[in-house]
Amino acid sequence: MKILCSNDDGFYANGLQALIHAVEHLGELAVVAPDRNRSGASNSLTLDAPLRVVEVSPQRYAVGGTPTDCVHLAISGLLPQRPDLILSGINDGANLGDDVLYSGTVAAALEGRSLGVLAVAFSLVHSDDPQRHFATAARVVQTVIAQLMSASLPSTTVLNVNIPNCPWSALKGFRVTRLGHRHPAQPIVPTQDPRGRPMYWVGGPGEGKDAGEGTDFAAIEAGYVAVTPLQVDLTDHAALAGVGRWVEAWS
Ligand code: MN
Repeated sequence: MKILCSNDDGFYANGLQALIHAVEHLGELAVVAPDRNRSGASNSLTLDAPLRVVEVSPQRYAVGGTPTDCVHLAISGLLPQRPDLILSGINDGANLGDDVLYSGTVAAALEGRSLGVLAVAFSLVHSDDPQRHFATAARVVQTVIAQLMSASLPSTTVLNVNIPNCPWSALKGFRVTRLGHRHPAQPIVPTQDPRGRPMYWVGGPGEGKDAGEGTDFAAIEAGYVAVTPLQVDLTDHAALAGVGRWVEAWS
């Protein structure tokens, strides 16, 4: 099996190293990841500049681009062969609910899927606890891969896997979930540059708003791994008829 690993926290992130360690015995491994933290890059492609690629070691590439750039490059000519499986992560932080719209971790998986390769995104959900249980997440990665080998997914499905930050023995199990929703993000944080000019940090994400039964938030809160099947189609199918009547009135 040919596996491609990527992430959005950057080539040297601990979560990517944990991911590599978890899967390198499973087949032929290539790593193509951003050369620095590109969290929040979403599905952006760099179209206004060329992409620099440094081969740090054989089949290990650090790219001056986004996670989507990395997977796009990897599949569209950088690697000699297409991967059979793309793994993105392990992200240092949650990708729950609305996070998936901003996430570079999820974007790398979506890019792989749209180019025809099975893909899974992994994220470790932690609060203020400085300890990171990447070893737990690594075992979750191995469990998910074993399942993927025995049962195939629909060709448009990407799995978004969020993992509680706890020892493996404290995990309650696995749950299939839907995306919840967050409250609006926290306000921007104003600051100044050394010359007194105003600058702003984007604020942190909001708390879970729709965190009810069946959501990824609820599963994590209860100590379960949340496995959410995602698709790229953002069409609001329930709104088609209503908007259709509205649009008909225009012509
Ligand atoms: Mn990240």
